[in-house]
Amino acid sequence: SSGALPPVPEFALHPNPHPVPPDARAAALEAPRFGAVVTDHMARMTWTSEDGWLDRRVEPYAPLALEPAALVLHYGQEIFEGLKAYRHPDGSVWGFRPEANAARFAASARRMALPELPVEDFLASVRALVTVDQAWVPPADDASLYLRPVMFASEPNLLVRAARRVEYVVIASPAGAYFAGGAAPVSIWVAQDLHRASPGGTGAVKTMGNYGASLASQAEAYRHGCEQVCFLDAVSGRNLEELGGMNLVAVRADGTVLTPALDGAILPGITRDAVLRLLAADGHEVVERALPLEEVLAGLASGEVTELFACGTGAGVSPIGRLVGHGFDARVADGGVGPVTARVRAQLMDIQHGRAPDERGWMVRW
Ligand code: PMP
Repeated sequence: SSGALPPVPEFALHPNPHPVPPDARAAALEAPRFGAVVTDHMARMTWTSEDGWLDRRVEPYAPLALEPAALVLHYGQEIFEGLKAYRHPDGSVWGFRPEANAARFAASARRMALPELPVEDFLASVRALVTVDQAWVPPADDASLYLRPVMFASEPNLLVRAARRVEYVVIASPAGAYFAGGAAPVSIWVAQDLHRASPGGTGAVKTMGNYGASLASQAEAYRHGCEQVCFLDAVSGRNLEELGGMNLVAVRADGTVLTPALDGAILPGITRDAVLRLLAADGHEVVERALPLEEVLAGLASGEVTELFACGTGAGVSPIGRLVGHGFDARVADGGVGPVTARVRAQLMDIQHGRAPDERGWMVRW
């Protein structure tokens, strides 16, 4: 049944002697800008190849001491996750499918030759931080506390090999709307020259290099007046894959939902999975396959593609109003929010924020 966490390891609490004063915290919570402010604490663990995972603790949020020779700074041996804590109308605080984040974190660890963090430790570390910093979970309807677990190679060594000492840290940041325009449709720039991932690479896991590789294209998107970039596959260069931090979904006039298949270069989004299940339950045919840019542009022109949206933990379900690239600037329907996007966005948010019953057991009480 939903809501129950397995028994979890204890995290020792070292309270922050200088927490953010309550009035400054209240100001930060009033209209939280995504990622702008962090909470008072961080959860931590350390791993060594001799002793395994050690020293479960919650500490004051503070800069890390990292040697310039730390392997992560040279070879990028790092993974991370992103999930949220939601305050329900009765004041309780809940997570959305955190076991899925724990499983993806473990998959990322395997790909990056980092030690796997047991699922129980992932859940316990997040729970420990959410518990001590629960005053930071915004009360507002559509806001939440964004949680960012990260694991990186801290061993000082310049050999190109997997680290023998690793740090794991969870930080948290109150989150409101991801985009400056709130839930208004965003414009997407299609990157036609640079790619973020390739088959056999690391695109299917959450590791820093994917994001570093996306930033030049993201900057290009901003230059063209777009909020986000969408990448094309690196083999044919023809198929839309995903955004810098979100998956992509198209809706056709006949109600069919199309989304790029998980081909090994795309991140398997937990929001993507949830949205596809909700759409299927609503009677939509859901097709996961390659999604050619040419097909989408032709469909937008003919009216056969009626909606495009992006989905991810940070922004939830985000309507797309325009698809722009070299030689094209296509409006999606009338540029507004389509009915399928609006409905699935509301369905998902109502479950996450405790306004609708959690029929699938997705919610876990922190
Ligand atoms: N694609 C990328 C590249 C991402 O970084 C994210 C965010 N984790 C997503 C898709 C969406 O994944 P999720 O729904 O699990 O947040």
